[in-house]
Amino acid sequence: MKIFDTHAHYCDPRFAEDIDELMSSLPSKGVCGVVNVGCCADTSERCLALAEKYDFCYASCGIHPQDVAAAKEGDLDRIRELLKHEKAVALGEIGLDYYYDMAPHDMQADYFRKQLEMALELDMPVIIHERSATADCLDIIRKYKGVRGVFHCYSGSWETAKELLSRGYMISFTGVVTFKNARRSVEVVRNMPLDRLMVETDAPYMAPEPLRGTRCDSSMIKYMIERIAEIRGMTPDEIGEITAENARRFFRIGK
Ligand SMILES: [Zn+2]
Repeated sequence: MKIFDTHAHYCDPRFAEDIDELMSSLPSKGVCGVVNVGCCADTSERCLALAEKYDFCYASCGIHPQDVAAAKEGDLDRIRELLKHEKAVALGEIGLDYYYDMAPHDMQADYFRKQLEMALELDMPVIIHERSATADCLDIIRKYKGVRGVFHCYSGSWETAKELLSRGYMISFTGVVTFKNARRSVEVVRNMPLDRLMVETDAPYMAPEPLRGTRCDSSMIKYMIERIAEIRGMTPDEIGEITAENARRFFRIGK
């Protein structure tokens, strides 16, 4: 089975001890691609360092809504510089988070807008994080037509998904799709066009059933792919192939 993990945080301290051992083991478990996602200028830089070290690793650079309060003047310029790197494939993660609510909403919106503008200017796809802020997030993306993006760790309704799909967005699912209470995610997976679907770990978080609660890594995507295959009445190999192809097309990664 082919696994392309479109969203992981291998720069998280929970991987510090065995990162090289873990990364070296992933290709033999079917992992053909990983996008490591930065949450601030420093983690974005570290994601690029990891991408330099491993062929199958790429990086996304951006300032997360939970990190905007701690961002320093000039950090957006740093992100812009980092995005010139040949292994930088996306701008993110960016967006709005009213659940953890770690920065004033207008400040979150300001960073979100500035990074959407940067994405248009640099012609790069964006990785969007939205939690408990759907209405405001939709208001903002409606004003930035032409942005290519993915809504990561999607847990929203089919209604919202329909609007995102009509605007050209991709939708990406984590291990949440395997949880027993994932009724909404299952509805979206069942109804959405397969060429817009991607899979991700959001590692170290969101480990799928039956490994829920453990440290997540990219090899565990096989459980998400198996569940999605079951929902769609297809084989896991087919879903692995399609989601990997979608990721390569979205991030513009050659074979
Ligand atoms: Zn993330």
